[in-house]
Amino acid sequence: MGFRPAVYRIARSLGLTGLVYNDTKGVTIELQGEEEKIDEFLARLQSSDKPPLADIKSCRTTGVAIIEGENEFVIKISDRRGTPLSQVTADIATCQDCLAEMANKKDFRYQYPFINCTNCGPRYSIVKTIPYDRPNTTMSVFAMCDKCAAQYNDVTDRRFHAQPVACPACGPKVWLTDSKGKTINTQTDEAITQAAKLLSAGKIVAIKGVGGFHLAVDALNNGAVERLRKRKRRDHKPFAMMTDSIEKIREYAVVSESAEQVLKSPQSPIVLLPKKEIAAIAPSVAAGVNAFGFMLCYAPLHYLLFAQRLKVLVMTSGNIADEPLICKNEIALEQLGGIADAFLMHNRDIYRQVDDSIVHFIDEEPVLLRRARGYVPTPIFMEENCRQDIFAAGADLKNTFCFAKQIQLICSEHIGDLEDAEVYHHYINSTEHLRKLFEAESKVVAHDLHPAYLSTQYALSLPDLRAIGVQHHWAHIASVLAEHDHDSPVIGIACDGTGYGTDGAIWGCECLIASLESFERFGHLAYYPLPGADKASKEAIRPLLGLLKFAYGSDFKLSKFEWLWERLKTSVDENPKSEIRNPKFIVEQLEKHINTIDTSSLGRVFDAVAAMLGLGSYNHFEAQLPMALEAIIEDGIEDCYDFELIREADKLLQLDLRKTIKGIITDIQKELPAGIISAKFHNGIAAALLTMAKQARESTKLNTVALSGGVFCNRYLTNRLIKLLNKDGFSVLFNRDVPANDGGISVGQAAIAAHFMTRESRIVAKRRKLCSAQHLS
Ligand SMILES: [Zn+2]
Ligand SMILES: [Zn+2]
Repeated sequence: MGFRPAVYRIARSLGLTGLVYNDTKGVTIELQGEEEKIDEFLARLQSSDKPPLADIKSCRTTGVAIIEGENEFVIKISDRRGTPLSQVTADIATCQDCLAEMANKKDFRYQYPFINCTNCGPRYSIVKTIPYDRPNTTMSVFAMCDKCAAQYNDVTDRRFHAQPVACPACGPKVWLTDSKGKTINTQTDEAITQAAKLLSAGKIVAIKGVGGFHLAVDALNNGAVERLRKRKRRDHKPFAMMTDSIEKIREYAVVSESAEQVLKSPQSPIVLLPKKEIAAIAPSVAAGVNAFGFMLCYAPLHYLLFAQRLKVLVMTSGNIADEPLICKNEIALEQLGGIADAFLMHNRDIYRQVDDSIVHFIDEEPVLLRRARGYVPTPIFMEENCRQDIFAAGADLKNTFCFAKQIQLICSEHIGDLEDAEVYHHYINSTEHLRKLFEAESKVVAHDLHPAYLSTQYALSLPDLRAIGVQHHWAHIASVLAEHDHDSPVIGIACDGTGYGTDGAIWGCECLIASLESFERFGHLAYYPLPGADKASKEAIRPLLGLLKFAYGSDFKLSKFEWLWERLKTSVDENPKSEIRNPKFIVEQLEKHINTIDTSSLGRVFDAVAAMLGLGSYNHFEAQLPMALEAIIEDGIEDCYDFELIREADKLLQLDLRKTIKGIITDIQKELPAGIISAKFHNGIAAALLTMAKQARESTKLNTVALSGGVFCNRYLTNRLIKLLNKDGFSVLFNRDVPANDGGISVGQAAIAAHFMTRESRIVAKRRKLCSAQHLS
């Protein structure tokens, strides 16, 4: 992004001649001139002179023949032979230079809400097709004025070939409408002032941003936030917030130095930050969790809005329930008209909706929980060239999909849960769109083993593709290996809610000896019965009864747990669908093994423990109960519950939590505070996973542990486990660039399939060599 112009500027300033062009491998630069000038060029290219968004992965130099009579440095048309690497880059937050211009009364883009340059602005969200040129973006309808065109064509200008360049005279405009779409104000500045006034008065305003609409409301006004929850039918999931300075965020949350860096980064994600104990944020913004999600303004429009003395806004995705983010004006009016009191709209069309990304910190490092705006479509690079393009379909929850092409793994943005019909439709369209955008001609498709996954069914329905099924937890571990470019076997610990196992059981706490080539199951959580299959991931009573039955065996009597049902009932009213009033029915299922499966799911154990402690009985959104359980942990507790690791003949290592479950019941009956019980439970799981890793090390001599799976989105558990592993001499790899939850599955699938294809082509090449040798003799 802006790389060739930067090369041009440095070369010219040093009096070097030659050329620069993009090709299939990256950027090629030919330089002619004095040797020390060339050295200086190389130094400056890798220093602050390079464009802020450029990330030089590697730089190789080689001598070329002198060209007589060459007297200038030029940018050459890109070499389009072969398939180029991805040309489309991510959407980037407004840069400091643009902000300064926007604040300068003398600049012709003073207070212009669509100011951008080569270092910032929309990209991925406005591209319709490649090559990435203005006519192929949603900016094609705006003809550049002379002033903008002059900058666009001037190679020394910061806006050289900045495709979305625009100004008040020639570019998009902002206006404000009421909830029915009736215009309130068509003057850009007045529309923004009026919108800010409505927000200050507690109204809900739908604001069109970079990747879609946000629903905004004053985050300090509890009544207003509750109204938004009610209208959006989103009763529980925490809302993200936006403001315009780190200082303001510090009033409400703890911002470490590294968190500040991430907040201010060009990607500008939502960052999860520890709540300050006394914060004026409305309680209903983020109940039941220990963190606030904050982001800084990232579009010029946001800054102009906050300049109207707004303090902090809830900025939640403009959609209904879990449907795809809305990005078109008409659809927004149609679907959000019942939620928003007003719409702050504009006419720069968004071609691809992209949600805000979410980052949190594990072991003091930034880790992506949701990978979307700002990060997509930045590829993950592989060591080896993949001979054939690969499509990886991903998983059904928190879906992303991924293309492997040459040395790149290009992962889609967060798509959502495919069980929603609208999301599934969006998934199909997105795979088609991105296939074209990245010119991926997949001959191979990688998919999950779960036959009922919609992503699996879609993958298998694609004609003429070679299908490669990849076990869910292996894909989790492979996602870590891929992003760390780690190609030797590791001890993989994958913990999550559900993943289809090779034995037909539902796996969810697995110790694998894994590489990109193969995996072997070394150990797992001892299977316990889980009644009610589909409902079990939402209704905590199901894993709870399954675990109690497992822990107490034939001693288990419903009547002994009357007190527990009483406790569960207090939270049941929120969810009329739950069958807590009739645990007998579920116990019957368990006893007759009807609609009951065996599982090693660790996620469901967290659900059950949360329910036992009275934190709720239903996951209204994924991992709600585990997050509530993490949020109440009391600091400074080192105790943990007992567990057993059992190795029976002919069986894998089993982690048995029966003692843990019984221990928790005893502590509840002793009225030990829930925060201490939760800490003891988390500590016990960390200790158990450490012991498992040690046993795996003993028998394999491997010393690297890779952690992945949704359970490792739990900061307390993951931080504690990493510390324990490090203390014991392990080196630990965990997801950073892709989510540890199922959002990372597609990358793991693609990496495994790419490795498989490369290996296969190598074997074929060897055979061919052998054949030709025989032929010669
Ligand atoms: Zn800029
Ligand atoms: Zn203009």
